[in-house]
Amino acid sequence: MGRRVDRGERLTTTTRAVPAVERRFGATSARLVTRTVPACYTPDTSPIYGRFAGEVSNRRTGRDVAPAVPVTRLLGATLADGRVVDVTLDRDRVETVTEVARDGVVLLSDGVLDLHGYVLLPAPAEPHAHLDKALSWEVIRPPMGDLGLAIASWRAFAATTTQAEIEGRAEAAALLALGHGTTAIRTHVDVLSGDDPLRGVRALVAVRERLRPLMDIELVALAGPETSDAAVEAALDAGVDLVGGASHLALDEDADLDRLLSIAQRYGVGVDLHVDESLVHGTTMRTFAERTQGWTVNRTASHCVRLGAYDPAERDEIIAALLRSGVGVVANPITNLYLQGWDHEQLTPRGLAPMRALLDAGVPTAAGADNVRDPFNPMGRGDTLETAMLAVVAGHLTIDEAYAAVSTGARRVMGRPDAGPVVGARAELMAVRAASLAEVVAAAPVDRFVIHAGRLVASTTSTRSIADPSHTPAVSPSSPDLEGVMV
Ligand SMILES: [Zn+2]
Repeated sequence: MGRRVDRGERLTTTTRAVPAVERRFGATSARLVTRTVPACYTPDTSPIYGRFAGEVSNRRTGRDVAPAVPVTRLLGATLADGRVVDVTLDRDRVETVTEVARDGVVLLSDGVLDLHGYVLLPAPAEPHAHLDKALSWEVIRPPMGDLGLAIASWRAFAATTTQAEIEGRAEAAALLALGHGTTAIRTHVDVLSGDDPLRGVRALVAVRERLRPLMDIELVALAGPETSDAAVEAALDAGVDLVGGASHLALDEDADLDRLLSIAQRYGVGVDLHVDESLVHGTTMRTFAERTQGWTVNRTASHCVRLGAYDPAERDEIIAALLRSGVGVVANPITNLYLQGWDHEQLTPRGLAPMRALLDAGVPTAAGADNVRDPFNPMGRGDTLETAMLAVVAGHLTIDEAYAAVSTGARRVMGRPDAGPVVGARAELMAVRAASLAEVVAAAPVDRFVIHAGRLVASTTSTRSIADPSHTPAVSPSSPDLEGVMV
């Protein structure tokens, strides 16, 4: 997270993978004053140390190792609907939610976490990630461009990369997301070409297992049209959870879709496909919905860019097929805003799945980041609030709908249990230092507490100080030429 000094304003941010055990701040002050936090659980052998250490600045040597602390009471939290509540947890479930007065004390001890000044929300879930590709932009330095160019850049790099290299970046990206509140991630992982096509799979299985105490990670085998059935099956045998692919890239889209679905049927696992990720081609969405109608395993259609380009009548027919079949949809605003529309000089299309129409029809709908700083998207901070913000400004969802798309809606699409500050729900929670959900999504404050399975697994605190202008003399121009110039 680091440190920034900017125009007399200082912002210092520290993210911890384990809880603060002592902190103190004035109940009426807008400024967080002090906090003392033990270091994290991470073993020294983690591949995080080294190249990507800067991505997760909290991870130090294993000297001060401490486990995630169970949380039993949350005091004075503001809910998205504005109520201020105390919440009790019974291990990994929310036991009670009780409305209380707004004033209270500040402490964190014996499982009690004071959340006055914080909004308490269902923890985000990332329904569509590529942890094996994440954080490779600065390693690869690819040219900017569309999906085809991104695939070519990635493949050239992937031919040379190792399991350890993938594992280091993937773990850094997962912990970046955890620090921002995400306690569940579904990530695709390439079934690679070459002599060892499973090195990415082994890397992500290792990350999934190492981080299991802190977050839920599920893996989708991303099989290109040229990937053999045997390689996909080997990925499933190696521990991957779902079958994935991108049939719209195949010469025979229907044949590729059919063989991927057949593999999933043989293994009895779910399917999460990159579906019609193009403004102008791809016709697999309707077939996907119809071919899997009656299946009970999780089925997810990701991207669905083409669906957003159809005329409303055709779009609504396909949406009806998705609804009948029970297929969930993941839109990927940040990546598809970047990848799509490069050949439109004027009125560049947004290239987004039609989230408004999908939600209105009742299709389970989520929003994911897709790529984070790799050839498919050079931007991103691993924060689902970035995706939620784009769902508002580019997808025209309400703020409540946008946050649901990255939290409760994402969990529904992923087939995960309900979570949030609701009696009986899983204690997967994020508290953000803000006054309202609108402020959370708009400003994405860095100060957060993250609870997974009833345990505090990450906290971020920051200190900002701004100079007092009434005690600060104006700076005289250093050059006579600047005198009187308004800037
Ligand atoms: Zn993707």
